Amino acid sequence: QKFVYDFTEGNKDLKDLLGGKGANLAEMTNLGLPVPPGFTITTEACKEYLESGREPAGLRDEVSAHLDALEQRMGKKLGQADDPLLVSVRSGAKFSMPGMMDTVLNIGLSDASVAGLAAQLGDERFAWDSYRRLVQMFGKTVLGVDGDLFEEALENAKRAKGADSDLGLDAADLRQLVDDFKAIVAKEAGREFPQEPREQMDLAVCAVFDSWNTERAKLYRRQERIPGDLGTAVNICSMVFGNLGPDSGTGVAFTRDPASGQQGVYGDYLQNAQGEDVVAGIRNTVPLAELETIDKTSYDQLMRIMETLETHYKDLCDIEFTIERGHLWMLQTRVGKRTAAAAFRIATQLVDQGLIDEAEALRRVNGAQLAQLMFPRFDHEATDSGQIKRIGWGIAASPGAAVGKAVFDSYTAVKWSRSGEKVILIRRETNPDDLNGMIAAEGILTSRGGKTSHAAVVARGMGKTCVCGAEELEVDTKRRRLTATGPDGKPVVIEEGDLVSIDGSSGKVYLGEVPVVPSPVVEYFEGRMHAGADEADELVRAVHRIMAYADRVRRLRVRANADNAEDASRARRFGAQGIGLCRTEHMFLGERREMVERLILADTDTERDQALGALLPLQRDDFVELFEAMDGLPVTVRLLDPPLHEFLPDITELSVRVALAESRKDANENDLRLLQAVHKLHEANPMLGLRGVRLGLVIPGLFAMQVRAIAEAAAHRMAAKGDPRAEIMIPLVGTVQELEIVRDEADQVIAEVEAATGTRLRLAIGTMIELPRAALTAGQIAEAAEFFSFGTNDLTQTVWGFSRDDVEASFFTAYLEKGIFGVSPFETIDKDGVGSLVRAAAADGRATRPDLKLGVCGEHGGDPESVHFFHEVGLDYVSCSPFRIPVARLEAGRAAA
Ligand code: PEP
Ligand code: MG
Repeated sequence: QKFVYDFTEGNKDLKDLLGGKGANLAEMTNLGLPVPPGFTITTEACKEYLESGREPAGLRDEVSAHLDALEQRMGKKLGQADDPLLVSVRSGAKFSMPGMMDTVLNIGLSDASVAGLAAQLGDERFAWDSYRRLVQMFGKTVLGVDGDLFEEALENAKRAKGADSDLGLDAADLRQLVDDFKAIVAKEAGREFPQEPREQMDLAVCAVFDSWNTERAKLYRRQERIPGDLGTAVNICSMVFGNLGPDSGTGVAFTRDPASGQQGVYGDYLQNAQGEDVVAGIRNTVPLAELETIDKTSYDQLMRIMETLETHYKDLCDIEFTIERGHLWMLQTRVGKRTAAAAFRIATQLVDQGLIDEAEALRRVNGAQLAQLMFPRFDHEATDSGQIKRIGWGIAASPGAAVGKAVFDSYTAVKWSRSGEKVILIRRETNPDDLNGMIAAEGILTSRGGKTSHAAVVARGMGKTCVCGAEELEVDTKRRRLTATGPDGKPVVIEEGDLVSIDGSSGKVYLGEVPVVPSPVVEYFEGRMHAGADEADELVRAVHRIMAYADRVRRLRVRANADNAEDASRARRFGAQGIGLCRTEHMFLGERREMVERLILADTDTERDQALGALLPLQRDDFVELFEAMDGLPVTVRLLDPPLHEFLPDITELSVRVALAESRKDANENDLRLLQAVHKLHEANPMLGLRGVRLGLVIPGLFAMQVRAIAEAAAHRMAAKGDPRAEIMIPLVGTVQELEIVRDEADQVIAEVEAATGTRLRLAIGTMIELPRAALTAGQIAEAAEFFSFGTNDLTQTVWGFSRDDVEASFFTAYLEKGIFGVSPFETIDKDGVGSLVRAAAADGRATRPDLKLGVCGEHGGDPESVHFFHEVGLDYVSCSPFRIPVARLEAGRAAA
């Protein structure tokens, strides 16, 4: 096994082995760019070291061979007394982990070689300063000495000299400081600072290996979802100095603007300084363009190199460089990070330059970036100006920027919004009763609950801004006020009607009105082409082109979860190819809720038939509107799914009301009946109780009424020369028998409507697969289903045994912190568990019925990573909320590209 690669031996594709930095240093070396010579110790060596606690056998010899070669090329030996070769020892993992791991510079300096360096460079102060830095860095990172001790000694030296920066210390002072530092090392580390250069190097290499497992590195990896077993490579590179005078310096550069994608000269330069000084921000940098006047030769060379790099990597690169006495050296390059807007623009620019093709352009952007571009944003200039008070910081639950008057209940939200006010609904947490208020509000703010609390999920579904779980906010709904802590630590009270602004992309809550800028990308999807600033136009053009590429190559179709004509029309404008889930329970809200209540309370067949009879025409009208909005495209209507108690008053509230009334001896008959029904329907685990297909099987006439409404609406649309494509979906089926019974009833109703209207209706009947048993018996269920739609919300809930309404607010944070999963399985499909059931059920279903249509309509249908999975397992479509449709189209395209 080979543990060491010279820079001339590697290349950019070896990031697993050489880390990002090492692979790119090798790539630049092989491009003939001026990289200081050096070599890389592989991540394999690191892994072996970390596992065994020892340097891998043979590593030392291999390092010696490479060091010999390096010394020969440089014409001097590591730490050679009269002219020392100095090296840097830097970490470099596959994924960048900024500032997480160790680096030691100036390895090779010692009591013996410091004078040699001084003589070679003709600069005694510089040599002692370099030695001082080595002892300090080595003491701290390799020998584990408390860094503050060195800082204190440095401060003392400055104070003694009356200097306000280390530039005020001369060679003699620094020489004294080296002695002080060495004394600190001897005392604290219990050993002398090593004078032997090779020993310095070997110890530094092990320290870099060890730094992979520091607590902060582990924490960072967990947060960034970087696997913990990759290890880091170690780069050993001959030192170049940017701090040798005015003809030296160091800088960073981008091949184009990472904020806009514009081509040009972007970067910063710091004269007479080392890279570390730039990071530390000790002195002010100048714009890179000024390098042209400082050192035109180096500047021109740098521009040529940047062009070479961009053509070679076919992407925006960022660069670190150093100029040592007029000689330019490249210290690092990598494909650079960029904003969402820049990503789209750069991808299309590179296509125009002929550097990449359309498929590659699709790989260069992603759905998360597109989603970012779709939300209105607060004007950052305003929030950064400090004039606006931030009063809280919760969970960024549903992106967007919303401003409105604070209201503390649903009723007021609806009332105020009807009279034209913009409102923010503020609750401790929300429940289905708040739905109307949520619809009316510009945004929703809660002080409790996580990313999948009711508020968060519903808000995301509606594309509405939401900040949840802002725990430092004290919400008092009774007194209609919110108490927060202002930036000065003093309490701030927000009363009903006060203006607040919430940022669903950052979770920040502001007092007052923050100006909002609309998203030109949404204007574009809405069909209102943006005609404003050039930059927005350019962005919209780029998005348009990328979406066209995606639509051209994707195999997955994209449908919407929508249950009213307005959402359906928007979804259609956003590119939906049908409705994959119409949740009919959403049609029974508001005043219709009482009609459902009447159905539940019905004692006799007549009462029940009356209740159903009243609902039928309303349902039919709903469907007529929906089929019209989606004319010519499939509309999957799901029959009633939720447990019935959701349509009844809360058991505690009602009990209290009845008890109070009884004590006053004026209990009302209806309340008493209601309470009885509520008790009868009360379940310990309603999500596992009387809901879904079970409702259809035990409440006579309910599903038949819904099927009739669908059939009559379809017939009505056909009579109007429309093209309705309704599909009837049965929820929560666990066995084919359930489906067969409901199906027989539905077929009969459809036949009746066909006979009565003289129309031939082609209504497909299918089911949701959202219980493990349904997935496991998909082959049987497919006998009675023309389509499957995977309900991955319930499927995740039942496969994991996680209550989808509770867990995110209770223990998910701990699970995420412990790295049990990197992301909630309710957000991104759990491929190994839930996903493998989906994969198997899809295959089993198709084995029974080869033309079985397969889709997914859980939240995962709009989640980028999940979309790729659904593409891979061969589903026909994904269905998601209207606002996520562009994201799903893009990701479906990326999955196929
Ligand atoms: C599901 O369970 O995934 C689903 C789409 O249904 P609901 O979220 O309405 O339970
Ligand atoms: Mg479900």
